[in-house]
Amino acid sequence: MLPDFRLRQREYLLEISRAMSARLDLSSLLELTLKSAVELMAGQAGLITLRQDDGKMTPWASIGLPVQAVPLFEPLWQGFEQDSGDAAPADISLRLALASRAAGVQMRQVVALPMEIGKESIGLIFIFRTRGAAFSPNDRQVLSAFADQAAVAVHNARLYQQVSAERERLNAIIENSGDGVMILNPYRIIQTWNNALTNMTGITAENAIGRPCYEILNLQTKQGVSVCHTACPLINPPGDGRLYAEGQHHRADGIAITLADNYSPQVNDAGQATQFVANVRDMTRLREAEELKQTLLSVISHELKTPVSIIKGYAGTLAREDANWDKETLADGLQVIEEEADRLDRLITNLLEASRLQAGGLKLKLSLLSLEDMVRASVEKLQATTTKHRFLVSFAPNFPPIQGDHERLREVITNLLGNAIKYSPDGGTITVTGQLGPHNTVRLSVQDEGIGIPPSDQEKIFDRFHRVDNRLARQQPGTGLGLFLVKAVVEAHNGKVWVESSPGKGSTFWVELPAGTSN
Ligand code: ADP
Repeated sequence: MLPDFRLRQREYLLEISRAMSARLDLSSLLELTLKSAVELMAGQAGLITLRQDDGKMTPWASIGLPVQAVPLFEPLWQGFEQDSGDAAPADISLRLALASRAAGVQMRQVVALPMEIGKESIGLIFIFRTRGAAFSPNDRQVLSAFADQAAVAVHNARLYQQVSAERERLNAIIENSGDGVMILNPYRIIQTWNNALTNMTGITAENAIGRPCYEILNLQTKQGVSVCHTACPLINPPGDGRLYAEGQHHRADGIAITLADNYSPQVNDAGQATQFVANVRDMTRLREAEELKQTLLSVISHELKTPVSIIKGYAGTLAREDANWDKETLADGLQVIEEEADRLDRLITNLLEASRLQAGGLKLKLSLLSLEDMVRASVEKLQATTTKHRFLVSFAPNFPPIQGDHERLREVITNLLGNAIKYSPDGGTITVTGQLGPHNTVRLSVQDEGIGIPPSDQEKIFDRFHRVDNRLARQQPGTGLGLFLVKAVVEAHNGKVWVESSPGKGSTFWVELPAGTSN
């Protein structure tokens, strides 16, 4: 049988180890240690000091002492420092008497021991008595068991702190990375989701973590086939071992972005992947730029080549010395050449304007203009090119002059009238009106009886290179740049442009511009 005292000591120490494995915070653990030691050693108060990084001791936990009294006991641990740490200073009783008096408490006896991890002294543990006999060597022995426990608690806490600091550092790196980073477990469930990913997708970490990545990102091809379900590299790794997936992600706000995921697996000793770190990049701009380049190349090769070969063909034929062309044939031939040269000219102007726009925006040369005069001049020119179409122009009598860039607005009118002709291949009436709009604006409309525009294309036709993809529209040559320029020019004038159209019946393009002031 263990004596009662030993039994209690063992129970106390056991309780402290249990508390330690329950991961109580360091201060609570040290207080528990002190409480047990004080009780077991029939003391009334206790104190633990810890050595800081700069080597100085600081009180860390206390029991049975008023909070404000604790710092006044400093001479006690200073005595230890001067005596190089291990043994209690010879005059510790005197120091205690002075400190007690200064603090207004009645501590008469003290026992103190260093707390050590290996050879390193990390702090001190003090137990005080207000009355009774001095502490015996046996008491010191009891205290040393508690000092060891406290040292282990401090050691654990420091290790834990180091690990947490390291983890925080890693988290900070992941969180603040400019690229999207997510970490997946082997079942493709998201474990980590950083800020950049939230910014890219609009999905918060809270909503992403714990869910499968194929649900949250759900990459798709342009045709709407799920990349995640048909070609996930984590499920079917490709031969070259490169774990890469790219596809479109449809954000909740309706915007589609192109994302590229690069996965790197973390593998355990058995060669199994324990997790995947995925780097996610927003490739939207890059892919758009590539597409634009492709379109530009095909536009240039198709649209520039056609008029050039027509001009070359006609010029060659007309120049043949063995043929004796009559006047009419010559005139017809030359007219085709002129028309094709005009087409080339418009095309090149549009291309140049589009690249200028991209390079540095539009600079307007403003002057006071009569839109009606400009429309009538364009109509006259275009009417000469067609017999199938009939132009009707009607402007409100009080239609005011506007402030605008003459050259640019002429391009707007030419593009709209040119389209009205081009996209009504069976002819018809083209009505141009000018009227007052709301809030001191004017409105110009160009209405045709042509092929019309499907509703799904009505906004997109103002995008660069966008052409309606159906047989009727594709029968006409074009680059998809005209309306893009129209929109840019009108918006640069603080105006807006839109279309109303029914396929098969015709289209009306509207341009609204601020009415000019005459001063
Ligand atoms: P382009 O005529 O060179 O193709 P635009 O930017 O002027 O380029 O027009 C873009 C697309 O809008 C055209 O390809 C055509 O499909 C459609 N579109 C423009 N104007 C009309 C119109 N008046 N009627 C029907 N479709 C039109």
